[in-house]
Amino acid sequence: MAEQHKPLVIAIDGPAASGKSTLAELLAKKLGFFYFDTGVMYRAATLAALRAFQSVEEEEAVTRLTESTGIDVQPASIEDGRVMDVLLNGEDVTWQIRSSEVEQHVSKVSAYPGVRKALTEQQRQIGLRGNMVMAGRDIGTVVFPDARIKIYLDASAEERARRRYCELEARGVEMSYERILTSIIRRDRIDSTRKHAPLKAAADALVINTDGKTIEEVLEESLSFIHQQLQNQG
Ligand code: C5P
Repeated sequence: MAEQHKPLVIAIDGPAASGKSTLAELLAKKLGFFYFDTGVMYRAATLAALRAFQSVEEEEAVTRLTESTGIDVQPASIEDGRVMDVLLNGEDVTWQIRSSEVEQHVSKVSAYPGVRKALTEQQRQIGLRGNMVMAGRDIGTVVFPDARIKIYLDASAEERARRRYCELEARGVEMSYERILTSIIRRDRIDSTRKHAPLKAAADALVINTDGKTIEEVLEESLSFIHQQLQNQG
């Protein structure tokens, strides 16, 4: 990581459907920053592997493929509900990476250390563009451990499943609450027990449990923490 100029990165970590994407997006808008959802990189690597091998079982092959694949994010070029463009070797895969097939395999791919190493490096490069809100699982602990501002969002699995259910329903996607809950619990287990960069809060993160809180309350709490941190750090 280049030390000579420290780009302002706000790290937002937390489990699936904890509200971190919503918070990160709102914060980015409020501060005029770029919102970078790092989960898209793991999703794009998973899509590339599924296309090339029809499976993600071969760790070595998936790792080599990820190392030689260019994944990038850019400000949204189309107004179709996207928050950014996701490019896989230049191809726009913004919506393909949201498929249930990718969803099902992404935790496995993101547990491969070589994949994490390659994508962490790419995330750092993108982060150096500066003025960025980065959301993920390991931004405050691994990708930018010296980020000036770190926030960790949490919520019970039931609350997160309920939110995801409403989100999908609003988009016209039919999936039962039970199925969503099972998938969230499964992803949590894989993400938090993996050997490399497991999901956990950084020691210096503000931890917010969002159960029973509105997004406005979470946003307000985050903004006052950000202002306080920036003042303290000069
Ligand atoms: O946030 P999202 O659900 O899109 O992330 C997809 C998957 O990517 C997560 O379940 C997790 O396995 C992985 N991920 C990760 N580290 C990040 C972001 C996402 O391991 N920084």
